[in-house]
Amino acid sequence: MRPFVYERPADVSAAVAVASRFADQQDQPTKADVQFIAGATNLADYMKLGVATPKRLLDLNALREPTLRQIKIGDGIIRFGALVRMGEAADNDDVRRICPLLSESLKLAASGQIRNMASLAGNVLQRTRCEYFRETSWPCNKRDPGSGCAAMEGFNRQHAVLGTSDDCIATYHGDFAQALIALDATVEIEGKRGARRMEFAKLHRLPGDTPDIETNLAPDDVIVAIEVPFAAWSRRSHYLKIRDRESYAFALASAAVALDLDGNMIRHARIALGGVATVPWRAKAAEEALQGKTLDQEVAETAADAAFVEAKPRRYNAFKIPLGKRTLVRALLETRDMKV
Ligand code: SF4
Repeated sequence: MRPFVYERPADVSAAVAVASRFADQQDQPTKADVQFIAGATNLADYMKLGVATPKRLLDLNALREPTLRQIKIGDGIIRFGALVRMGEAADNDDVRRICPLLSESLKLAASGQIRNMASLAGNVLQRTRCEYFRETSWPCNKRDPGSGCAAMEGFNRQHAVLGTSDDCIATYHGDFAQALIALDATVEIEGKRGARRMEFAKLHRLPGDTPDIETNLAPDDVIVAIEVPFAAWSRRSHYLKIRDRESYAFALASAAVALDLDGNMIRHARIALGGVATVPWRAKAAEEALQGKTLDQEVAETAADAAFVEAKPRRYNAFKIPLGKRTLVRALLETRDMKV
């Protein structure tokens, strides 16, 4: 690991000021000389591997604003401070009761040790685990723009089938983000440009021909909170994750589902898919296929087919299309059958 300067700013404005001073505004946050850490469960790995080489780390754990560590619930909004740990949010009784999808996605995301360390904001900004991205001897457009993509013709079993490009097929491996995008969450950001809000759906960028640009954040932007709207329907919500082993593994396919039902008739379905796409993936075509329908196996299968119409399989990951469909069908029927 290369030497770096370590600082603990006292508040958000100090963190933004230091980041603004040492980061070039044209830099991507993942490439900037200065980077933020909270749990450091993702960045520390990449620093050890030589994938990330920041010269200055700003540890956000000393920020004095109490709201950064609080979960507030009221007026139809769950507001998570950015430094709330995954485990704390997952174990919050009110969150679990109001919106099980949030708790389940967090519980299934990582081991207990990592859930206790990792912050919510850091979790949604985690980077891909593409094997070729992590090993610096391979060409990788995300790590080294223009160098090529070893995964295209390589062992791409873990890679994405939705949202891919000719330059990158890396999967976004998070789970909590699938819940957030399904539930129309919003992020609050403070940066050199001031405080602003961003739809969670606009936080991550498709790889296109610039896979190295992963989010719409500037290098001095700090996420300070995540807001999730809730209502009576959000109690009928669920996260299903399918993986190679039942603990501590990334999703091969997952589905985040929230259903607003009138009897068995769907007023509104909210669906996101994980393990199969390059970014947190809202499945709008599947939602539209369900609108106004009575949910049964056949209707669920039609929606799952719609979700994967644009999927592009590679040599080793074609299995993700039928697996992703079956995962969504099962998640829809399990959500329908929840006792709420
Ligand atoms: Fe790099 Fe993306 Fe290709 Fe993986 S899939 S090697 S992250 S360009």
